[in-house]
Amino acid sequence: MSVKIVSEEKRDAKVMKPPANARPHLWFRDMDAELLRIRMAEDMPLAMYINKHAEAKMRNHALSTRDGKTEVMGLLLGEIRRWRDVDYILVRDVATTDLDATSVSVKFDSAGFEKLFENLDLAGFDYVIVGWYHSHPGYGCFLSDTDVKTHSGIFVSPNHVAVVIDPQHFEIAGFRLRSGKAGKVDFAVYWDEYDDPYGGLMRVKA
Ligand SMILES: [Zn+2]
Repeated sequence: MSVKIVSEEKRDAKVMKPPANARPHLWFRDMDAELLRIRMAEDMPLAMYINKHAEAKMRNHALSTRDGKTEVMGLLLGEIRRWRDVDYILVRDVATTDLDATSVSVKFDSAGFEKLFENLDLAGFDYVIVGWYHSHPGYGCFLSDTDVKTHSGIFVSPNHVAVVIDPQHFEIAGFRLRSGKAGKVDFAVYWDEYDDPYGGLMRVKA
């Protein structure tokens, strides 16, 4: 299996309705969440939908170094889909590796790449890398000049996203670049129809 980063030329987005089971992130402020709910009722896709397990993985990753205040980072795996002629991103999993991190910077450890590729192999589906996440412990969600440079150096598609998590203020935000400038993207957390452990054929003994 080889790692693929979706390029701008590659326009084979699957036409599919966005996930039916989705809701605003619990860390969003009430008003933002309400606006998002209105948008989600319109049958137009948001920019991104993050699987609830993937969201928990990156949130817990960020929270795990909350006290030490070091940054964490990882890659977003998923696919680009299209609905009503609008591209949207589905994040199905995340992968990370050993990091070389301080409180204000983070990069993949040079020895960590092999481990990252192993982790990517474990993802178990035909993924593409659709973006990255990293944390800003205690200093809010935005893209710094360095983040913009990192992003534009690796992710060439205008659909590629950067998720930033502040585990001390319990904030999360998604960004993408438009003409070199970072803009926030709307996203929701989704779950699969059969994710409910009691939704299947569980029999109750008489
Ligand atoms: Zn940053």
